[in-house]
Amino acid sequence: MARYLGSACVLCRREGEKLYLKGERCYTPKCAIERRNYPPGPHGQSGSFRRKLSDYAMQLREKQKARRIYGVFERQFRRYFADATKTSGITGAALLQMLETRLDNVVFRLGLATSRKQARQLVLHGHFAINGKPVNVPSYLVKAGDQIVVLEASRKSPYFQTAMKELAHRKPSEWLSFDAQNLAGSVLNLPSRQQIDTPLKEQLIVEYYSR
Ligand code: SF4
Repeated sequence: MARYLGSACVLCRREGEKLYLKGERCYTPKCAIERRNYPPGPHGQSGSFRRKLSDYAMQLREKQKARRIYGVFERQFRRYFADATKTSGITGAALLQMLETRLDNVVFRLGLATSRKQARQLVLHGHFAINGKPVNVPSYLVKAGDQIVVLEASRKSPYFQTAMKELAHRKPSEWLSFDAQNLAGSVLNLPSRQQIDTPLKEQLIVEYYSR
């Protein structure tokens, strides 16, 4: 499937806030939001973007923001929403839980990548196994109790050798645990809404798809 190949910073500027799509650069003064916090395009600086948004526009923007943060295309996002409506819990929370449990996000949350985009690349290049079986599908949804390990052959790479040293002091998300020495993580529980710190108003997304 085709992927968005344009500038990640343009996506942040379109949403008017940092979506942290580029890893470490996002925390430096080089961040485009720090330097040019107005929408891209010829009318970006005209001020028209400051107009009050309609309810529909707010719902649309929140949905787009979620898609961009997690790097998911519309069709797949819509599928996640359809699956979330079939769960017994709150639809918005179930949707966020699905996005969080994607393997690329889990690799990012474990601290093995500085951005979800980088995590996606690592997964696609086949560096991980789940419960002993190699998995190279970024959209794979992990379950409680799953063990995610860096494959033996990949551990020797300079990338993971460096990661091993740096990760010893990092803390993964609350719902995950990580053993930096063995480059192995596990899913303690599926994340509750309180354990997901992504700044999203999921109710707006639910309203968008419920129109
Ligand atoms: Fe967004 Fe990061 Fe680019 Fe800043 S550096 S605009 S946070 S992707």
